[in-house]
This record gives sequence, structure tokens and C-alpha cells, in this order.
Amino acid sequence: MPEIVFAVTGQALRAGKIVCLGRNYIEHAKEMQAEVPATPVLFLKPASALMRDGGTILIPSISNDVHHEVEMVVLIGTGGTAIPAATAMRHVGGYAVGLDMTLRDVQAEAKKKGLPWTVAKGFDTSAPISAFVHPEAVPDPHNLAIRLTVNGQIRQSSTTASMIFRIEQMIAFISSVMTLEPGDLIYTGTPEGVGPVQPGDVLTAELQHVGSLTVSVARRS
Ligand code: MG
Repeated sequence: MPEIVFAVTGQALRAGKIVCLGRNYIEHAKEMQAEVPATPVLFLKPASALMRDGGTILIPSISNDVHHEVEMVVLIGTGGTAIPAATAMRHVGGYAVGLDMTLRDVQAEAKKKGLPWTVAKGFDTSAPISAFVHPEAVPDPHNLAIRLTVNGQIRQSSTTASMIFRIEQMIAFISSVMTLEPGDLIYTGTPEGVGPVQPGDVLTAELQHVGSLTVSVARRS
């Protein structure tokens, strides 16, 4: 799904790069036994990893431990380079809820060897995403209940108020390193409670004022 619907104009927009934050919630950094970062920890997913509501996450044969990470997703509507934090929110074109699906065993091996996370994070179907809502539909993106259920059981439940870096800080930092363009997405990090999924599971991600996303899980043949 390279095309996404731009929440502000309603036009179809080609999805660009997907910039993801790691360790943006203190309790998740703790459960991963990782340090709480002083600057945002970034990694990328390709646009080909995106998958719409109702799709099926396909577990590649190289992994036996795929984890869910529910995240608020920010759509960049207006691009820029070295965007100041003070005006960064003007660049937001919409919000969605997404899943940063992660091959935890592949990632753990990469961490041990000091190798990139590209395979663990960038596989096909690793970035399920809901429809976007207009920024005006979201009274305060830094105070939204965020939740993930697996087969109806709550696995993750938190609030975006617990994010370490705010959206304006993310946009300022990312755009100081790489130009942000319309259609780029920011996956803003996951709260605590990440865990494995199995073929046959049904995952529902919910973000207050934004919407929900339901996907299933299967093995890739
Ligand atoms: Mg994540």
C-alpha cells in the first residue's frame, strides 16, 4: 500500500519513509533492559512494510518470535529541513494508530552482533496502519489512551502522555538529520507490555480520538 489518504486535503499521497522511534516510553525501555535515551533513537522501515486495516501479518520463516508494539503514528503533511520545534506541529497532516511488528529474535541477534535492525523491523506487513484523521479531530495528541488487545485480551494499555519525546521534539530532531517530506510517517514508539503473537491471533490497536486497527497473523508461506 504505497498510497495513503492525506488527512488534511483528503487527497491520496504516496507514503514516503517511515521513521520509527525506539525506547520512547520509560517503562518499555525498562522492560527491554535498555537505557532511557537522551536523544531520540531512530530506525527506518520501508514504505513497502505498510499494511491496511483488515490485513494479515505474515511471519517470515527466519523468525519464531514476533512481537507487537502499538504506536501513535504521525503523518507529515508539509515537509521541511531543520524544522524548529516551535513550529513543528504545523507540519502534521494527520494521525493514525499503527503496529511496529518486530522479529524480536532477529533483533536480539542483531543487537548482540552490533548489526542493523533492518530485517527485524522492515519485513513485509511489519507496519499495519489505520486510516488517518485530521489533526483537528485530536484535541491533544500528547494525552491519548493507547491500547492493544490480542484475541480480546489487553496486552498494552497506556497513554501518549508517557512518551519521553514529544511530537515537536521528534520532528525537530528528525528533520535536523534527514529532510521530512509530505507522506513521511513517524511511528512514535511503544509503551510497555510488548509480547509475542502466534498464527491465528487477532490484534486490535486503539488510539483515543483517532480510531482502531484490526489485523490477523499467519505464517508466510
Ligand atoms: Mg516500536
